[in-house]
Amino acid sequence: MSGIIRGRFAPSPSGRLHLGNMASSLLAWLDARSLGGEIIFRLEDLDPERSYMDYAELMAGDLRWLGLDWDAGWPENAGFSQGERTEYYRAAFDELESRGLIYRCWCSRAERLAASAPHPGEAHPGSCRCRSLSAPELAERLHGKRPPAYKAAVPDETVTIIDGHLGKYKQNLAREGGDFIVRRSDGVFAYQLAVSVDDALMGVTRVVRAEDLLSSAPRQKWLIETLGMTAPDYAHAPLLTAPDGRKLSKRDGDLNMAELRERYTPEELCGRLAYLCGLIDRPEPVKASELVAGFSWSKVPRGEIDISGVF
Ligand code: GLU
Repeated sequence: MSGIIRGRFAPSPSGRLHLGNMASSLLAWLDARSLGGEIIFRLEDLDPERSYMDYAELMAGDLRWLGLDWDAGWPENAGFSQGERTEYYRAAFDELESRGLIYRCWCSRAERLAASAPHPGEAHPGSCRCRSLSAPELAERLHGKRPPAYKAAVPDETVTIIDGHLGKYKQNLAREGGDFIVRRSDGVFAYQLAVSVDDALMGVTRVVRAEDLLSSAPRQKWLIETLGMTAPDYAHAPLLTAPDGRKLSKRDGDLNMAELRERYTPEELCGRLAYLCGLIDRPEPVKASELVAGFSWSKVPRGEIDISGVF
């Protein structure tokens, strides 16, 4: 796969795409296309309790409606939904386990959230005492009824990301990120493991997504490299905030594509998003394809973008 630039859309079908998702998707598409690269559509339907196939269809339709296309992906091609990729996650898990990098964890709060990406307000707790249980404590838990989740034991090591938009970002894995769940107690593999394995095995070279996942990038890079693969380059896009300062979120039902498609034509919505992202001077209608030639991350603001006055 060397030499090929490949970006990705990686939505989770847990709700309709909102304005913020559309801004990140537009930037992901422009990033790949402006570099002459490919883009794939991977459906992140890892969590059976939070995945609805009706949303998956709508998400793909919403991206196409805005004028964004992809070269391969769900549902046209096999192997592009996480539900079909369990064998790869299992192989990675087994590899980490055989190298002593996994331990059992009985902390339930961490595990509830582990199959979805950590978005605002969902701080995922890190390291815990389960890593250093004494032999009797471990034996007691193993004999209990509750099955454990599994965590990756991260080293005391600083990982540096050169973010394509934000520049250098450093994180000490142990002190700042902490150990993280790679598999839930019900057997579902966790977001951090799945996304890392998928990006590496699918030959993704450019991960463009919203800034709330910046702090996940070092652990993903570490996982990929620990598994002997090449990590992609990362670029994190600004988060959009509502007029009251709140970050837009799928879970709050903010300005989602059902409403936006009623209000705007694709070119109108694209123009407003492009304006918010600093790509054009006025919020005038534009086709996504017309933005490719002039795209540069240097035009995109850093920090949050307030949508007031535009939406
Ligand atoms: N599937 C995640 C989400 O929709 C995004 C994961 C990623 O881009 O790494 O929130």
